[in-house]
Amino acid sequence: MPSVIEIDGSMGEGGGQILRTAVSLSAVIGVPVRIRNIRAKRNNPGLRMQHITAISAAAKLSSAEVIGMREGSMEVTFIPGKIVCSNQVFDVGTAGSISLIIQTIMPILMSAGCGSIIELRGGTDVPMAPPIDYMANVVVPNLELMGMKAMITTKKRGHYPRGGGSVVLETRPSNVHGISFRESRPIKVEGISHATNLPSHVATRQAAAARNKLMRLGLPIDIRIDVGAGLSPGSGIVVWGSFDDGHRVGGDALGELGKPAEVVGSEAADKLLRSILSGADLDPNMGDMMVTYAAVASEPTRYTVSQVTQHLLTNVRVIKLMGINAEVKGEVGGRGEVIVEPTR
Ligand code: ATP
Repeated sequence: MPSVIEIDGSMGEGGGQILRTAVSLSAVIGVPVRIRNIRAKRNNPGLRMQHITAISAAAKLSSAEVIGMREGSMEVTFIPGKIVCSNQVFDVGTAGSISLIIQTIMPILMSAGCGSIIELRGGTDVPMAPPIDYMANVVVPNLELMGMKAMITTKKRGHYPRGGGSVVLETRPSNVHGISFRESRPIKVEGISHATNLPSHVATRQAAAARNKLMRLGLPIDIRIDVGAGLSPGSGIVVWGSFDDGHRVGGDALGELGKPAEVVGSEAADKLLRSILSGADLDPNMGDMMVTYAAVASEPTRYTVSQVTQHLLTNVRVIKLMGINAEVKGEVGGRGEVIVEPTR
């Protein structure tokens, strides 16, 4: 067995993303990893069901052996084997984030020599995680520019607390190269405003508030309304700007009890405006997620982000510990530049 890479889960952000990135990369580069002090900076440290599902999914797709995987565990060792393709169902349980499982397994699927169809069950629009519409309409299109062939289809939405969402992630063999963005300008804004088990005016008011704010960009705006039924009520909106080189920048917000639909729509629009007006290539969430994908690409990747976050810095620290050259220029809260140079 090659020597184990040791990762301290309490560094930087000290959350679940350290674990997801470490396990993903371990599977792709074929080197075992041990993560200690898992989620040490969270109120409920250690492995939760959400993380156990992510690690189990990564393990299934990379024939890995995992030591220390039980709820509350502060230390896990992941020993990867051969990456396999598969048609599987992964159930995060209740309203655990489906997007965060996709975040974990997509780098592995990107590196597989064959296609997979994976069904994921859990939450599609839950706090502290990317909404599924953001994964499908911002993350995947940006990864497609790097050669990734993937599609996310939402069959059913799942909100906190009961979840019950269902999403299909389909991937085909991909040759993922790095990316450097050229000067480009936004050409249109699109979005999806949804309401589940709530009156349709919640979705239309979210969309109207977002549209009002986004009009100052002087671009065509098309926000689709999606009203449906699910196990728990919930609402949210994702808006994105498409640039003339094909890349996308997003902004999103989730509804909650007592939060007017207008506030939800404005919040998402403000996030998108901040990113577009900064002139940066990527928004802060895509900025931290891109690090993991860039790390498994065959060439260097270079991009600017509208805001340097702790998530970004922490993700970069993880990939550096895994032997990948990477650098962030800029301070937390300000605009920054990220350079990732895979050494494989
Ligand atoms: P923990 O389990 O430690 O509580 P976590 O596993 O939920 O944390 P984090 O380490 O906080 O996760 O990482 C969350 C990921 O979700 C990050 O990649 C972040 O950019 C992304 N994310 C969070 N909120 C949003 C959002 N509103 N839109 C898009 N992406 C988001």
